[in-house]
Formats: sequence, C-alpha cells, structure tokens
Amino acid sequence: MTFDLTSADREATWPKLVRQLEHFYTENRHKRMSSLPDRQEVVDSLIQTFDSPIPIQEAIDHVIEGLSAHAVQVTNPNYYGMFNPRTSFPSIIADVITAVFNPQLAAWSHAPFAVEIEHLLIQTIGQKFGFPADKIDGVFATGGQEAHITAVLAALNYAFPTYKSTGIYGCQNRPIIYASASSHHAIIKAARVCGLGSDLVRLIPVDHEERMIIPALKKQLALDVFNGHQPLLVLATLGTTGSGAIDDIKQIASLKKKYNFWLHADAAYGGGAILSTQYAHLLKGIELADSITFDAHKWLSVPMAASLFICQHPYALANTFSISANFMPGDEDEIDRLSSYTHSIQWSRRFIGLKLYLPLLVFGWQGYDEVITRQIDLGNYLRIQLLQNGWKIYNNSKLPIICFTDIKYEYDEKFNQFIYNSFLDSGDAWIINYPCNGKETLRACVTNYATNESHIQNLIHSLNEKRAFYAAQHS
Ligand SMILES: *Cc1c(COP(=O)(O)O)cnc(C)c1O
Repeated sequence: MTFDLTSADREATWPKLVRQLEHFYTENRHKRMSSLPDRQEVVDSLIQTFDSPIPIQEAIDHVIEGLSAHAVQVTNPNYYGMFNPRTSFPSIIADVITAVFNPQLAAWSHAPFAVEIEHLLIQTIGQKFGFPADKIDGVFATGGQEAHITAVLAALNYAFPTYKSTGIYGCQNRPIIYASASSHHAIIKAARVCGLGSDLVRLIPVDHEERMIIPALKKQLALDVFNGHQPLLVLATLGTTGSGAIDDIKQIASLKKKYNFWLHADAAYGGGAILSTQYAHLLKGIELADSITFDAHKWLSVPMAASLFICQHPYALANTFSISANFMPGDEDEIDRLSSYTHSIQWSRRFIGLKLYLPLLVFGWQGYDEVITRQIDLGNYLRIQLLQNGWKIYNNSKLPIICFTDIKYEYDEKFNQFIYNSFLDSGDAWIINYPCNGKETLRACVTNYATNESHIQNLIHSLNEKRAFYAAQHS
C-alpha cells in the first residue's frame, strides 16, 4: 500500500468526489438547516477503530454522510446566524490546490510565488483601508483570534522595547487593554494568551446602539494612568458580532496623542464593507488605526481559516517575531522580512492567501463590491419586511444584522426562545437569540452571497407563522 494509492484509484476517486461535492454544493441550498443532534448518535456514527482499513470511496462516503447529517448547514442561503459564509467556488478550488502542492510559507525561499501573493494581498488590502503604501506590513492568520493576539504582541513590543526578551516581567507599569462591553471576547482571550490576564482588559460601557461610550473610555484611561498603569491598546470594533455596532474610531484616535496607546481596529466582520463603493464610508476613520483584524473567512466567503492582520508600522512584526537576537531593523534583508517564521506567530505555514487570490482573480474587486453591497441592501430589505409585518427592531446598524422581536412579546422571555426552537425543529432557516442592549431579541444576519429576496420572504413567512402559533397557544 502506498500513500498515493494507485493511479487507477485516484482516477476513480476524483471524478466521483467532484460529483458528490457538486451535489452538496447545489442541493444543500434546499436542505434543512440542521439536525437536532444527540451526542451518542453522533459518536456512534464515527468509525471508531482503525484496525481494518476500508477503501477510500467508502471512507469518503462516510465523511460526506456525517457532515451532511450532523452539522449546521452554514453554506445554505437560509443561514442567518454568525458570519459563517457559503464558500465561493474559486476559494474552494484554492484550498484543493494548496493541499496538493503543500507549499511551505515559513521561508520566502521555499515558496516565493506563494509568499509574494500573500504580500501583495496584504499591501493591496491595506491600501483599501487607507494605510500608506510604504508603511504597510501584515500577515495572514488563521482567524480573528490569531490576528488579535498578533496585535497585542505587536503593541507590547512597541510600548516596551525590551518586551521580546524580558516578557511581561520587564514592564514597569501594567499594560491595560480597552474594548467596548459589546466587543468580541477574542480580545479577552488574547490578553490571557499574551500573559496579561483578563483583569487587565477594561470593558468600556456602551450606548443604546452598543457603541463604546467615549467619555467612559476617557475616564477609564485617566484613572488607569493615575494609578500608574500604562494604556497599551484600545480596540475599536467596526461591526460588532452581536448587533453590527460601529465604534467612533475617530474620537478614539483623537485620544492617542495624550495616552499613546496602540489603536487596533476589529473589522473581523465589518471590514468587508470597505470593498463596497457604496458603503465603504461606514468604516471611515479605520485608516487611523495602527492595525486591523480582518477576517477573509467571514464576509469574503472563503473557507476557514483565513484572516488578515494588517498594520501601518513596517517593522512591528519583525520587532515582535524575529528570532534573531541581534535584529537590526535598518540592516535587515527585505526578503528575510517576508519570511513568515520571522514575521508571525506560526512557523510552518499553510498558503492561506490563495483562497483570497483566486476569487479576486476570477471576480475582481467589482465582484466583491457587488456581492457585499447586495448583502447590505438585502439587510435593509429584511428590515423593511420585518417592520411591515409588525416586528420591532432594536439595533440601528447599517450592516446587514437585525435584532428584533414582536413588540407584543417584548417582555415575554419565552417568546424568542420559542421562535428560536421552532426554527431548530422546522429546519427552514437558522437565526439566533441575542441580548441586544440588554434586551433579548432574535438576530438575523445576511451573510451568504446566495441569499436573495425570495429567501428573505420565506424567512418572514416562517417568522409570522411561528409567531401566530405562539399567539394561539398563549391567548
Ligand atoms: C468573529 C469575530 C472575531 C473572532 O474572529 P475568529 O475568526 O472567529 O477567530 C473577533 N471580532 C469580531 C468582531 C468577530 O466578529
């Protein structure tokens, strides 16, 4: 037995697999959203031992069956949950190609074509966000979480020049991180991973639209400085996960002069708006950030795990990750600086950038512009439909995230849970519960480029039907 299998095996496997995947890619649009899994049933469905090898086709069938039966079908256009996309066809092909070639991106010399593609994308997208071309640096990461950790480490090395060798013990003052109370908890995990601990993360209160209250941030900064701490990093969220709130990044940036913190923009989701000619203005001020987290595996519709960390400090990453002890920014070799092992958390590294490069080649910026603009417009369409059908909306985001419930059941805690559960039962769409501004709501997000007006109409129809059922039971 060779790990290549035989050429006859491969020639039988590829075309069959293409048919199976193509079937899933098209038919999954009509499938129910999920099963209600019983853990034992899922565990029992695995092949538990590896003592008697099976033919590859049998193994593939087994996996496709399991993933079809036991997963929330996030690629289905009726999925209105978190930002898990349907993956574009070129991005899927990119991951297949990457797996076959398996380029090693740790060092430029091992995979120069791949490293240069990632470099180009970081540069180009950094410029889209308004960073000056000669200042841009960055790296592909596995997700927003890794990009956030990269940001905290870059900020630490920036604020404490000896951090690389002394670590947190070399910091005279406690480094403090600030983020809104509605920010993604990835920043808390980043603080833990970097050895700061979650106690050093200040969660600043938010206003009725879940945006950071700037006077509250000012007050906290002043208090921490008074107590001898050092403001390290302020996280401005441009598109919160829950309700799509956008922090006032310009106001936050205006405090940099006084407090000298690193300003990190969390545009993990909302960053996609920069590619929409019509809606890019929603992110105005992002060019003032020191660095940005932007997930490609959310609004750019590529398979996990793909995120971008982009900063406008050309030596921040090298300062943070270079493992050469006598590193001198001025003397470094430009090509060496592109090598990701001196440049990022990871060492051996997958070619993440290809799943963005290939769709960009095929669709161009114009394709992304159209798709993202259309999703924002569809969000507005959903808003109007909800209002016309007697639902009340609780958030005021311009992004396609809508938090709503029926005003009649505003104070009935069971109502939203009932609606959520009946979607689980019926499987015709997937929405979630979210406490928007402290109020339990239903949350629907247009996050799938295949979603269209008829899907939205079906969603409204289902919502109305489930509400009527609830009303009948509770009258
Ligand atoms: C998803 C998300 C994150 C975390 O990113 P991952 O890619 O899941 O690691 C951080 N911030 C925001 C606003 C997000 O939506």
